[in-house]
Amino acid sequence: MNIRNKILTAVAKPFSLASLGSGEEVPVLLPFYHIVKDGEHPFQYNYRFPSISRFKKDLDFLLTHFDPISLEELYKGHNLRNTFHLSFDDGLRECYEVIAPILKEKGVPATFFVNPAFVDNHDLFHRYKAAVLHQFFAKQGVASDLQNTYADLLSLDQMAEDVGLDWEAYLQKESPYMTLEQLHQLEKDGFTVGAHSWDHPEFWLLDEEHQLDEIRESMEWLTANFSPAVKAFAFPFTDEGVSRDVFDAIRRERLCDLTFGTAGLKLDPEKKHYQRLAMEQDGFACASQLVKMEFLSFQMKRLVNKHVVKRE
Ligand SMILES: [Zn+2]
Repeated sequence: MNIRNKILTAVAKPFSLASLGSGEEVPVLLPFYHIVKDGEHPFQYNYRFPSISRFKKDLDFLLTHFDPISLEELYKGHNLRNTFHLSFDDGLRECYEVIAPILKEKGVPATFFVNPAFVDNHDLFHRYKAAVLHQFFAKQGVASDLQNTYADLLSLDQMAEDVGLDWEAYLQKESPYMTLEQLHQLEKDGFTVGAHSWDHPEFWLLDEEHQLDEIRESMEWLTANFSPAVKAFAFPFTDEGVSRDVFDAIRRERLCDLTFGTAGLKLDPEKKHYQRLAMEQDGFACASQLVKMEFLSFQMKRLVNKHVVKRE
């Protein structure tokens, strides 16, 4: 098939995997979210999360065109064509209160990636601290443009102290995160719990040894507290800049069975490492639009050989 025909086929059937030809490898669809909620949430500063009805619509779209699979099925990797596995990052309480009941009702398996440092509301992710401060300043009519990487954690804490915001009191009052008990219940209900680093640093700011510490410590916590059939780790933010040496160490030390990035619909040269698709993106009214666009974009990238993640 020439390129023009390939593009025409791609446009005509945006997510028809058959149009790619049977011999060609296709990435499995791995959508992920953080929050599902009606109305406001302080962390809306970070993500355009869906309402409950929008989330249900997203699920209905996915279930119409793809088969839901468990993390174990993804790990085994038999016939992943037209399948999807859902995941949810950061362990926020909406996962337990809103998301899990909907998934149970619809019979959709999922994995919840959590940071041990934040489980039971012991601490707050630095980007969420920035979001809370942002909301605080907005209420005072002050526009804020906060620096909010891991490296700025001390200045975020200082700023909170200066304006009388006590994180401990905030965590107790709002309890943004799930408890360990709730996570155990999710596991009992057939969901998988995975690790998402110890405390969600920007990995690109860490050297390889510290990256590995974050992985080791969170995976140790995971196996000490849960009995996952598949030990999974999702890189916080992105796996961009994570070197092949780090992946080699993960395999050598048998730290994880599966690892995940967030590069969207792309193939990855690392074994048992998959790319997920962020569903909370600006400018898309529903999953149908976003997923179709993503498949189309994958097919375009394949034409120019940019459909596989490159890694140093
Ligand atoms: Zn995260």
